[in-house]
Amino acid sequence: MELTVLGASPALPNPGGASAGYLLQQGGTSLLVDCGHGVVSVLRTVIDVRDLSAVIISHMHPDHYFDLVPLAYAYFFDQLPPVPLHLPPDGLPVLQAVERAVGLDEGFFARIFDVRPYQPEHPLTIGPLTVRFAPTKHFVPAYAMRFHNGTGRELVYTSDTAYSQAVVDLAQGASVGVFESAVLRYQRDAERQGHLDARTAGAMARQADVGMLVVTHYPSADADSVAREAGDAFGKPVILAREGERITV
Ligand SMILES: [Zn+2]
Ligand SMILES: [Zn+2]
Repeated sequence: MELTVLGASPALPNPGGASAGYLLQQGGTSLLVDCGHGVVSVLRTVIDVRDLSAVIISHMHPDHYFDLVPLAYAYFFDQLPPVPLHLPPDGLPVLQAVERAVGLDEGFFARIFDVRPYQPEHPLTIGPLTVRFAPTKHFVPAYAMRFHNGTGRELVYTSDTAYSQAVVDLAQGASVGVFESAVLRYQRDAERQGHLDARTAGAMARQADVGMLVVTHYPSADADSVAREAGDAFGKPVILAREGERITV
């Protein structure tokens, strides 16, 4: 399984970067995981859009789905057959609201994409990949994902979350963990906490005993401290995700 980071930035893209987006490739299957702003531009440097097998979205925050608009134009202009779009259960009404807000025809997304809302309580099969979900602790319903390819190599992506035992459980023993670190300082007592800092991301990954930790969704201005703090808590060096980086799982 090959992971290509398409977007390692948080909601405010790092200079020259893109928000959340990852390409997972296994055999002939190319799965786009999240599609935040700027991701389609980077995706096009890696593969032809027509070679995408499916798209899956972790939650309906703009930095994880806004580039479905330009992605839809790629399919619209070239009249490509609909690509499966796996949305969280609350996803389609959000896209319908976007259609209205930006003046697209009603049903635009449902015509361009083969919209398939997933049920997070059940595993999902996409080509050779099986996806299992866990609800994260975030501001809207969001789902961490664990991807199996049938060989025992497994990747876990936290999406956006504060500390969550459910996410630790999902990540247990995974070969690679892609953990977010969108905030600089985690406030355990804060009533509304929806993200990890580097130290907490590293501690969660250590608790889950993941083989390799990739830290993502972080402000690049703080890259040095993110790497140091996540690495200290994880107990091993970590990889900082960067747009275009390829990692073999
Ligand atoms: Zn979010
Ligand atoms: Zn986010």
